[in-house]
Amino acid sequence: MDITFKDVTYTYQPNTPFEHLALNQLNFQIPKGSFTAIVGHTGSGKSTLIQHLNGLLRPSEGTVSIGGFELTNEKNKQIKALRKKVGMVFQYPEHQLFEETVKKDILFGPKNFDVAVSDDQLLKVIDMVGLEPEILERSPFDLSGGQKRRVAIASILILEPELLVLDEPTAGLDPLGQKQMMELFSQLHRKQDITVVLVTHQMEDVLAYANQMLVLENGRVSLKGKPIQV
Ligand code: ATP
Ligand code: MG
Repeated sequence: MDITFKDVTYTYQPNTPFEHLALNQLNFQIPKGSFTAIVGHTGSGKSTLIQHLNGLLRPSEGTVSIGGFELTNEKNKQIKALRKKVGMVFQYPEHQLFEETVKKDILFGPKNFDVAVSDDQLLKVIDMVGLEPEILERSPFDLSGGQKRRVAIASILILEPELLVLDEPTAGLDPLGQKQMMELFSQLHRKQDITVVLVTHQMEDVLAYANQMLVLENGRVSLKGKPIQV
């Protein structure tokens, strides 16, 4: 899915003492089928930006277009159809795990969108994210940080998204786990033509996998281009 941000501004808690201009007049494009890395210091607006990609946040001003969907600050009835196509792995995986078992958490999306899932598909995503089938009956609350993140990723992949949005998806994984997870995203991108937007602090991942990079600084794009090793 191609993405266009046109004059996008986002203000948290407007007209209150906590008002904060988090995105300031953003203009950029992400082509369909690309692998884009978003980098920038803590607080620069990365998570705010990507939460616009499934309509969780809507721009205070400007327009975000995603694969033909237009998001403005008006309510949009098509948002459910958009969310079915956009898989988002949040920075804090706890935010997307809330059922009693891992299995229920992974099946939450398919149930919500009326998508039938076979046991084989379930076992396949569990395997893709490097987990064992036994984990399906466990409570997500009792898992380690890395296991929670893997479950959150599985719960997104089960819906076979066209756009995969990942907010620091390898945080909390050991170096081998980080590499395996990045290889998985890269494979989905290459073989299934999934558009990937990755927020990361790891420059090695940007250089190894991304074909476009956006640098955010204080809510503005300070640099965009092709990452090149110098
Ligand atoms: P990190 O690398 O630490 O995850 P980030 O680039 O993802 O940082 P954001 O979470 O997008 O940064 O936050 C951007 C700015 O918006 C920060 O200055 C943050 O303090 C502010 N902000 C975030 N959420 C709120 C909120 N609910 N109310 C007010 N300000 C907020
Ligand atoms: Mg963030």
